[in-house]
Amino acid sequence: MALIVQKYGGTSVGSVERIQAVAQRVYKTVKAGNSLVVVVSAMGKTTDGLVKLANEISPNPNRREMDMLLSTGEQVTIALLTMALQELGQPAISMTGAQVGIVTEAEHSRARILHIETTRLTRHINEGKVVVVAGFQGTSSTGEMEITTLGRGGSDTSAVAIAAALRANFCEIYTDVPGILTTDPRLVAEAQLMDAITCDEMLELASLGAKVLHPRAVEIARNYGVPLVVRSSWTDDPGTWVTSAKPQGRSLINLEIARPVDDVEFDTDQAKVALLRVPDKPGVAARLFGEISRQKLDVDLIIQSIHEGNSNDIAFTVTTPILKRAEAVTAAIAPALRSQSNPKFDEAEVMIEHNIAKVSIAGAGMIGRPGVAAKMFATLAAAGVNIQMISTSEVKVSCVVDAAECDRAVSALRTAFEIEAKSKGELLTPNSCTDAINRVSTPHSSPTPPVRGVALDLNQARLAIRQLPDRPGMAAKLFGLLAQHSISVDMIIQSQRCRVIDGVPRRDIAFTVSRIDGESAKKMLTQVAAEFGWSEVVLDSAIAKVSIVGAGMLGQPGVAAKMFEALAQQQINIQMIATSEIKISCVVAQEQGVKALQAIHAAFELAGSEKFVVPV
Ligand code: ASP
Ligand code: MG
Repeated sequence: MALIVQKYGGTSVGSVERIQAVAQRVYKTVKAGNSLVVVVSAMGKTTDGLVKLANEISPNPNRREMDMLLSTGEQVTIALLTMALQELGQPAISMTGAQVGIVTEAEHSRARILHIETTRLTRHINEGKVVVVAGFQGTSSTGEMEITTLGRGGSDTSAVAIAAALRANFCEIYTDVPGILTTDPRLVAEAQLMDAITCDEMLELASLGAKVLHPRAVEIARNYGVPLVVRSSWTDDPGTWVTSAKPQGRSLINLEIARPVDDVEFDTDQAKVALLRVPDKPGVAARLFGEISRQKLDVDLIIQSIHEGNSNDIAFTVTTPILKRAEAVTAAIAPALRSQSNPKFDEAEVMIEHNIAKVSIAGAGMIGRPGVAAKMFATLAAAGVNIQMISTSEVKVSCVVDAAECDRAVSALRTAFEIEAKSKGELLTPNSCTDAINRVSTPHSSPTPPVRGVALDLNQARLAIRQLPDRPGMAAKLFGLLAQHSISVDMIIQSQRCRVIDGVPRRDIAFTVSRIDGESAKKMLTQVAAEFGWSEVVLDSAIAKVSIVGAGMLGQPGVAAKMFEALAQQQINIQMIATSEIKISCVVAQEQGVKALQAIHAAFELAGSEKFVVPV
């Protein structure tokens, strides 16, 4: 017998008939010998309707009253579903967040869960009742008791948090799609259902998967090792398992207030190869990394930044033992990359840096929290460490620094982010999730593919800061400033080329932000240009970011090359490249975004035979 938490989204409980269908499924699960807690959303588009009502009264409604209003949606569903269960002869009881004791921060409209009382839940479960809990809501602990909500889409978070608190065997998220797809089926009809994905991959795919599964829910599942599955409410198909390693003995106090950074990693066995002044045209990255992959050389970080004029710099890191061969391949290819249109164009130049180290901060908590990268840069600056390369992904920021400064960098970062050095006992053990999966006899997941999914983000803009003085602390100042203005930064790339102007070595730095923040960020950064010593701030809103994600790309040569080759074949120019261990992102022109997505999805053979009908 298992203890299961099931969550049903708005569409799944959108009408009386659908609520009755949910009751049937719940009933069947109980009859199969399981205990159940059911978390529900508001019916259909109820929450949107309530938001609209509020906006008709006030353009800027009070946040406390908003929570009071929005939390009613779920309360309707819990009562109706409980009645439907009772009609089937199934003992059941409905409970609001406050009745359960879902205690949150006193932060209206975006509260994080602090802890969940389990006494009353457990009592009702032991009495043989199904407990139906209102998702998305809680109650603040400090001072007077207030109703809070977790933020739109927060019912997923409620469900996984309850599963963690009850140490449930697993948590099922029922929704109107069959699970997690390899890409957006509205853009690529051949998108295919995945049978499994790791929490880390899911978080890196946040821009693809956020609509299906709230990233905060994934974060809790990962932190507490809750086996999680996303399934369709309309069928009995197995859906997609979202798996994680089983962390040991994490406290259930401050459940969601996990630190933004939960690990500081470093690698001193690295060397950097940079190819400067290659032409800015389709196919260059594909040629370079194609050749490197033919030599079976595994590259780690890859960075391409933008420049004035029509040339790019591409830099990558490799482990020291293969540096010589990577250098040879790069040097051999450099002359061939000379600009055809402009024969006088400087020949691409190869630059090698031996003694470098990569230091990274990692953590799902950095999603949606501006200022984490800035804090890393500020910490390194305060420790007197200069940053040579920066590369970021959804849940990781990596900096390349001088190897001699690695220890200092790591200890400063550990102090700043309150991370203890890892001892053996703390290491994650490989998951017991497969046990859980086997227990409920879902099909075994296939071996980890190099690429699990492909995402397209059309809602970003790129900013480039020209001629930023190259000294410790500049990146910290720049990104600190953006964080102060609550502007979240996504990809950050620092150029390789260094120019001395007015006796000061300078580099360009480029980064992407949400498109809506583009103009205001540009204005703000232009205003302080003189004070901070940089020149122009350039904004490009017509960009698209395509990313591939997959834990299987670790240690597998040729994955980046394949992605770049797919783009080259379509004559798509790559403007920027940034990577983390399990993700590679490219910025391309916006009008080529969809074509890029389709080409990459096809190149990695992710296409399925069935076509998905997109739910409306
Ligand atoms: N009803 C809330 C919303 O629409 C919470 C949820 O459904 O997850 O955002
Ligand atoms: Mg949802």
